[in-house]
Amino acid sequence: MTESEVRPYDAVIVGARAAGSALAIHLARAGLKVVALDRASFPSDILSTHVIYPNTIARLDHMGVLDAVMAHEPPPLYTSWHHEGRMFVAPHTPVEGRDWAICVRRITLDGILVEGARKAGAEVIEGMTVTGLVGAGTEDDPVRGVTALGENGPVTFAAPIVIGADGVNSTVARLVGAARKRVMPTETMLYFAYWTGVKTRNTQDFFFEPPWVCAHFPADDGHHVITMNGPLTARAEIRDWEDYYLNRIRSIPALRARLEGATKVSKVMGSPRLEGYYRDHTGPGWALVGDAAHFKHPAGAQGIGDAFHAAEVLAGMIADGSWRAAYPAWREADSREFYAFCKHLAEPPGDDSMRQVMDAYIRDPRLARAIVDVWARTVKPWTDVIPHVPGMAAVTGASIDDVLAPYEGERLPLAASA
Ligand SMILES: Cc1cc2nc3c(=O)[nH]c(=O)nc-3n(C[C@H](O)[C@H](O)[C@H](O)COP(=O)(O)OP(=O)(O)OC[C@H]3O[C@@H](n4cnc5c(N)ncnc54)[C@H](O)[C@@H]3O)c2cc1C
Repeated sequence: MTESEVRPYDAVIVGARAAGSALAIHLARAGLKVVALDRASFPSDILSTHVIYPNTIARLDHMGVLDAVMAHEPPPLYTSWHHEGRMFVAPHTPVEGRDWAICVRRITLDGILVEGARKAGAEVIEGMTVTGLVGAGTEDDPVRGVTALGENGPVTFAAPIVIGADGVNSTVARLVGAARKRVMPTETMLYFAYWTGVKTRNTQDFFFEPPWVCAHFPADDGHHVITMNGPLTARAEIRDWEDYYLNRIRSIPALRARLEGATKVSKVMGSPRLEGYYRDHTGPGWALVGDAAHFKHPAGAQGIGDAFHAAEVLAGMIADGSWRAAYPAWREADSREFYAFCKHLAEPPGDDSMRQVMDAYIRDPRLARAIVDVWARTVKPWTDVIPHVPGMAAVTGASIDDVLAPYEGERLPLAASA
């Protein structure tokens, strides 16, 4: 490759994980000449836990990669909640015949997606860092490609559309000036480690120990994820994260019993910076997808599924030419309710409210299934769950508009003056 080389495509994607590879698969299937560029070389890990639900498993199937994922034997999981010695287990309402979730490490999943994109006909170039855009991203000077640096030097990839699938710190978003909007601060942080040799069942288990929630997700290739999610205010008292994490998870008798004879095979990882946001999704010659466009607290476990869903939708709109206006409108309609629910999920739980919801879910298995189906996006919380659980609206907020008003209030003057 030389400095003068310009390589032409129908679409250039920056980032090749959940959003980027999924988009590459759908665009290649639609007949576009597409390249996805990633500075990483796969297999490659990224900070993320990784439970995905029946709706997202169906999308893996549609992308032609589910068999490769299941070859790593992630156990099918029902969802179980535990609080004060009581528990319930619930399956999901089946989506395409599957009523379970799976947990697949990103080091496994993302490499399979990259290979899936190549099989679909996309080019994926690893070890290629995008450093600039061709075009300013204005109506007069739309984005027409990217400049990038690979191991053999700089290259220009030209295309009528550049899509940033490059995560929370998106280079494309920065270069086009797409700032975070409707930022939803979080009160909780999430930390986790990988384990092997954990005694297991076919459940993902959430242990509610207000204000903490610890969870056990059996994952692929015999690995297990054990998480602790708790108040940001606790950070000040934590001197040694490894010690704190081990004491926290071992304080839960059921978890301690499962960990007898198990081995922790990673350091403790996680982040206190989990605030939600939106960015403008499109502009002249560019679009954003995945975390680059929209992020929610990972207690919602939706980032991977949403990245696949948005990639599928955006690909169809790029193919029919409607993407510039139709894609942001779709996102608004699709995401607003779950964004509001994430406000609740990102707050530390309390014992009183946990007693109320556990009463309701233990009494009515249909309601228990409905709450776990919120994560599969087959149930709407403010229609199908909250009105049926005594006291829940006082904790979640009575309506989507009530919850989002403080954040969308920031957005409205901007939209009006744009
Ligand atoms: C602690 C934590 C737990 C989570 N748990 C879950 C969960 O249980 N379930 C779930 O669905 N989601 C979960 N998520 C969210 C999920 O990880 C993200 O939503 C998902 O990774 C988004 O995928 P993406 O492809 O948009 O971005 P990313 O996975 O961030 O990929 C972006 C890619 O872009 C590349 N890139 C960036 N800049 C450049 C550049 N300039 N040039 C070239 N390449 C570039 C990067 O190398 C990277 O490979 C969690 C997130 C966190 C932080």
